[in-house]
Amino acid sequence: MDKIYDFHMHSFLSDGDLLPSEIARRTYVLGHRAVAVTDHADASNLPEIVRSLVKVSDSLLKQMGDFLLIPGVELTHVPPRSIPQLAKEARRAGAEIVVVHGETPVEPVREGTNEEACSCTDVDILAHPGLISERAVLAARANGIFLELSFRGGHCLGNGWVAKLAREAGASLLVNSDAHTVGDHLTPEDAIKIAMGAGLPRAQAESVVFENPRSLLRKRGISLPV
Ligand SMILES: [Zn+2]
Ligand SMILES: [Zn+2]
Repeated sequence: MDKIYDFHMHSFLSDGDLLPSEIARRTYVLGHRAVAVTDHADASNLPEIVRSLVKVSDSLLKQMGDFLLIPGVELTHVPPRSIPQLAKEARRAGAEIVVVHGETPVEPVREGTNEEACSCTDVDILAHPGLISERAVLAARANGIFLELSFRGGHCLGNGWVAKLAREAGASLLVNSDAHTVGDHLTPEDAIKIAMGAGLPRAQAESVVFENPRSLLRKRGISLPV
């Protein structure tokens, strides 16, 4: 199978168990071409986390063949109105992929988070958006923001709804692991299963898994090592 991409996961810089370098090695072996490490951040830790991830990404560049580790961040449980400011700050610090922790069915994420994230052009991905509104999905489409189908237990309960609304509105989907530890990272077969399990026909699942990540990389001007 072709190589895959995963733009949402955590290292021990927040609540994950692994060093970014171990994540790079494990995901490379599982069949990834590029991954973004997107540790949880709010105003307390944002620049430090991003700087550390930029450092390790630079150190691994050209050391792992055609694999790329991308520095990112996941704005998590922040007040919705602070999303534009924090997303800008993340970009300034060097985050290449900005994820917002969406209104998952299994956490008390503040209402309004999905809509604010989908209206902010500095945001790349709305993670696990749960029972997202049609209005937010239309905003995501208009602003080129990707909606996530999640591999993570609990968060994945909204996948079918997210896929249905995204298909109806023509918004773009991505499959991400939201991995925190060993065993959480995807294989290409897992990624296809998640997309099809959310109700996508195989051809559309394949384009979500193999093509959509590349269009996000193009949009952000991120080039893969060859
Ligand atoms: Zn976490
Ligand atoms: Zn996450």
